[in-house]
Amino acid sequence: MSVSEVISVHILTMGCAKNEVDSDNMRARLSAAGYRMVEEPEEAQAVIVNTCSFIQSATEESLQAIFEMAGLPGMETGDVKLIVAGCMPARYGDDLASELNEASAFVPCSKEDDIVAILDALFPHRSMLEEIASAPEVLSAYVKISDGCNRFCSYCSIPYIRGRYHSFPFDRIDADVAAQIARGAREIVLIAQDTGRWGDDFEEPSTLALLMSTLAQKYPKTWFRVMYLQPEGITDELLGVMQSHENICSYLDIPFQHANERILSRMNRKGSAAEYLKLIAHIREMVPGITLRTTFIAGFPGETEDDFQELCDFVEDIDFDYVGVFPYSLEEGTRAATFDDQIDDDVKIERAQAVRDIADAISRERVAARVGSQLDVLVLGSEEDGQLFGRAKCQAPDVDGVVYVHQGEIGDIVSVTINDTLMYEMEGE
Ligand code: SF4
Repeated sequence: MSVSEVISVHILTMGCAKNEVDSDNMRARLSAAGYRMVEEPEEAQAVIVNTCSFIQSATEESLQAIFEMAGLPGMETGDVKLIVAGCMPARYGDDLASELNEASAFVPCSKEDDIVAILDALFPHRSMLEEIASAPEVLSAYVKISDGCNRFCSYCSIPYIRGRYHSFPFDRIDADVAAQIARGAREIVLIAQDTGRWGDDFEEPSTLALLMSTLAQKYPKTWFRVMYLQPEGITDELLGVMQSHENICSYLDIPFQHANERILSRMNRKGSAAEYLKLIAHIREMVPGITLRTTFIAGFPGETEDDFQELCDFVEDIDFDYVGVFPYSLEEGTRAATFDDQIDDDVKIERAQAVRDIADAISRERVAARVGSQLDVLVLGSEEDGQLFGRAKCQAPDVDGVVYVHQGEIGDIVSVTINDTLMYEMEGE
């Protein structure tokens, strides 16, 4: 291996003895690959927090450790990388990636054996070119555009943990995007707790639409995608930009969370089913063929059978392409945790499953309806048997499935005709 630099790594282990074993395994693999293990996190260029999330308090301890590590010198600038491994990425998956923007990589327990490839991808100057090419995550990268949140949804602790909303300056975002493209990224996913507000806190206010169109013009061969747009962040300017730039994915992820006006108000969120229906009709009119994803919380305190039925009707009415549903989870320290009309756990789980069943049936149909259509697919990797797979613009990383393709090189964007689907997965020729 042509190692141009020895990278120092510190592993912080939370939780049980099993985690210690897993950390030892990662240490051995990294040492064998030429990484230098260090005792002190301050000496490291990469800090791995091997998390535990067995119970709520363990999750909180792990989060605290992550935030402590995120405060180390060099983290803010990206010179030092934070990697979150273990139970939390395994348990919370993509949701964790959306909330913990400081982390450069998430390594669930099942992927810990790949720790060398993951770190090689984060330090590309260290690795052999072919190793970078074989690391699919390099081809699609998240770039954080702001931090914090001012919305104070009554169930959410993020504003208390991450502080008030602050947009990152364009130059910082541009530098991050350029660095990811230099590493091989063909798709940039812009993320934040509340992406739609980007720029409204600048002395000279700007907009997400302007940010996206500027990036899309500057990097015409790169796909741009934005996630986590609150309903209020959707403007005609943004929809216009989405419609007019080939390399901005016509994809919106709008966390509606509920449809009943009273429950939304108790969530400290604005809107109602009628308003949301109107908004979605407008989006579809302005950007025909747009892919829509959302998330809902079922079993929020005080949710009656009628409120829940309104949510189910809303899901049926909208025909979302993809839906994430979560039973309400009580988070200590939030206003909703103090509500005295909490719903029984079994009911919450049942309701979440019922919404998921409705949404899945619709998603299946919408994915199946793509048979015969032509899609550009970014080839991301291959299965053990050599079967290539990638993602189309209508599929966000990790949550919306993949397209299996028969020709192309990893990193290519190929045009395919969809000839079969299975749940969320598609196959193209
Ligand atoms: S759930 Fe609400 S408060 Fe929490 S990060 Fe999202 S918008 Fe902000």
